[in-house]
Formats: sequence, C-alpha cells, structure tokens
Amino acid sequence: MVGNIDWQSIEAKYYIQTVNRIPITIVRGKESTVWDDKGRSYLDFVGGWATATLGHSHQTMIDAIIEQSKLLIQVSNAFYTIPQLELAQLLIDNSCMDRVFFCNSGAEAVEGAIKVARRYGTLNKNGASEIITALNSFHGRTLGTVAATGQPDYQESFKPLLPGFVHVDYNNFEQIKEATTDKTVAILLEPVQGEGGVNVPDQEYFRNIRAWCDDNDLLLIFDEVQTGVGRLGKLFGYQVFDVEPDVMTLAKGLGGGVPIGAFLVKEKANSLTFGDHGSTFGGNPLTTAAARSVVEFVIKENLSETVRLSGLRLKNKLLEIAKDESYNITEIRGEGLLIAIQFRAEIGLEVMQECLNRGLLINRVRPDAVRLMPPLIVSDEDIDKGIEIISEAIQTVTKK
Ligand SMILES: *Cc1c(COP(=O)(O)O)cnc(C)c1O
Repeated sequence: MVGNIDWQSIEAKYYIQTVNRIPITIVRGKESTVWDDKGRSYLDFVGGWATATLGHSHQTMIDAIIEQSKLLIQVSNAFYTIPQLELAQLLIDNSCMDRVFFCNSGAEAVEGAIKVARRYGTLNKNGASEIITALNSFHGRTLGTVAATGQPDYQESFKPLLPGFVHVDYNNFEQIKEATTDKTVAILLEPVQGEGGVNVPDQEYFRNIRAWCDDNDLLLIFDEVQTGVGRLGKLFGYQVFDVEPDVMTLAKGLGGGVPIGAFLVKEKANSLTFGDHGSTFGGNPLTTAAARSVVEFVIKENLSETVRLSGLRLKNKLLEIAKDESYNITEIRGEGLLIAIQFRAEIGLEVMQECLNRGLLINRVRPDAVRLMPPLIVSDEDIDKGIEIISEAIQTVTKK
C-alpha cells in the first residue's frame, strides 16, 4: 500500500522545507541495506548519517529495545535508573573520561561541553569564556553550536550569534597560539572534521595543542559526535591521535540510530554542579538501554578493530582506482570507516546520483568530494560491491 502514496508530495506540502532530500522513501533496513517503498534495495554507505553503528535493525538492539520498553520507557531524572548508570559505567570504564551526562543529540552534547567550559572559566580563570574553534568545522544547528561552527553559510540568517567563539584554520597550531588570550578558556575541535569534508590533521597537531592547553590551563574539548564509538577504527577518535581531551562529546554512533548524545569530562573539567544543567529525556531508560547494547557489542566484539581493517580494505581499493588518471580523483582521505573521495572537479553530486541509480547511497560532502560512512558491521562483500558501483559511477560521470 505504501508504494502507492506519493510521500514526496506530502513532504513538500506539510514539512518545513529545510532539507533538500534525495527522492527515495525508505521503509526498512537490515545490516548495510535499506529498501524503499517500491521494494528497491540500496546499499547504504551513508549509514543513517554515521549513526548505524550495528547496521539497520540489528537483533542486539531489537532485543534491548523490546525488553526495556516492557520494563520502563521514561521517568524523571529526579530518580535513579539502571540502563543510564550501566551505560555511564561502560563509557567511563572504557575511556579516559571520569564522568558523563546524557542528552538527546549531538548539538545538545556540544552545548553541554560549552557550558562546562564557561563554568570552568567562571570558577578557575577569572571569568574567561572564549572558545577557539576551527573554520570548516561542524558542531550542530542550535544557536550556540551554530556560533561554534566555522561555516558562515550556517550563521548568516541567525544573527546575533552567541558571542565567545574565535575561529582559526584547522590543522594550524600557530593560529591557535596567536588566538589565545586571557579570555580564552577552551579549544573545541573535531579529531577528524566530518561535515567539513573528512579532514584528517597531522599527528603532531593535537600533541602540540595538548601541551599548549596544559601550559595555559585551557580545556581541550573533542567533538566526537561523528568520530566516537568505533568510527575511526578505535573506540574513540582521540585514541587514533594518542592525545587525551579534557571534555568529549558523543552522539551519532552512540545509540546505533536511537537519538542520544553525551558529554564526558575528566575530573579536572568537572565544573558543573547541582542546578547547572538538566534534561527531561536525557539518559532516558529506553535510549540508554539501546545505546548500552550498542556499546557493549562494539567492545565485546572488538568492532573497532574490524572497522580499522574494513577501512583499510575500502581505502586501499579506492587508492587503486585513483591511480587511473581517468577517474579524476586527487585524494582519498579519512580514517576507519569515515572516508572521502576528492575529485579534481565539482562532480560530487553527479557521482552521488550515478551511485543512487545503481543502488548505492553515498553522501556528497563538498561540491567536489563524496563521503562514505557505512555501518561499522559492513561486510567485505558489501565493501567490494560498493567499490564496484562507485568506480562505475565515476567512470560514467567523467566520460560524459
Ligand atoms: C552531526 C554532528 C553534530 C550535530 O549532531 P546533531 O545530532 O545533528 O545535533 C555535532 N558535531 C559533529 C562533529 C557532528 O558530526
């Protein structure tokens, strides 16, 4: 029945038009595959926007959600609940962090981290409140996180912006030194810039910043909303760079598709106290039970290591293709299962379209680049199938 309804016209009429959607109505998913309302299947290398940690409708998550929904879905955070505390323990015992607060999205997690930093400045640094962030970054769409995000396109229509953010070039340590003043309290960065085009900084970048933060009593905040929970081939992105942040945010991969976010702090940055923060739904039994099942699976199955190997397979095959000049590829970049293909020309949209025609979903992350972020459980067979489609798609576009 669903196949006979024109959902796209309904969207055009009823929904606030902020997203330029791809014309497919997805009704179902399993592992790395989704199906539309006409019954057509697609290999999903968008992965629910890097949220489908265990792929679509994994049995582990289904069981966790069903069991928890029978017990308890929501109570007030004025009470203790078990899934929330089990997830908290799991994250703290397996990271360099000491405490966690659960919220409902990535933007909310970054908002929390900003409050942690400002309160730290109030307590310890004479009211210093400025946060240095990077150009081309992405931290969310709320007013606070839009101000943090270093992309003017997202800011222009919503001024006045929340003050207190200073933007510098990513992967440029000198600019961070120059931007630091008495007013600076923290440095907020993505370990790998996701929405900005999958930009991987040099190894020494974060080492230098860590030392700078220690010398100047600044908090280092890693926005791991996209890189956390296995995506880069380690449980957390900071482990790829061997540098520990003072504050970390999580969201996308944490719930395996269920909306949840978190900010985590080291004891040093544990600045919030009673009355400083709260959330009605944050850490709710249903979402934390789902996230607990995801994180438990990732840790028990050592999925991060699988991601590292799958990522290498994907990257090496793409590098092989890129050797052929006719593909117009100038760079393959990324870590783990967060990979971008950089083209010589602005053909990202066309390549995405040709992939779509052949049953593969990918993301056009920049006009001249596409991004791949398949589920972390993606099979070698599906990686190879994806590569085959991508290579055909690029050939078709470049031959035009
Ligand atoms: C997606 C993303 C966000 C925002 O997350 P939402 O859940 O969409 O609010 C914040 N930071 C980074 C690094 C992201 O990739």
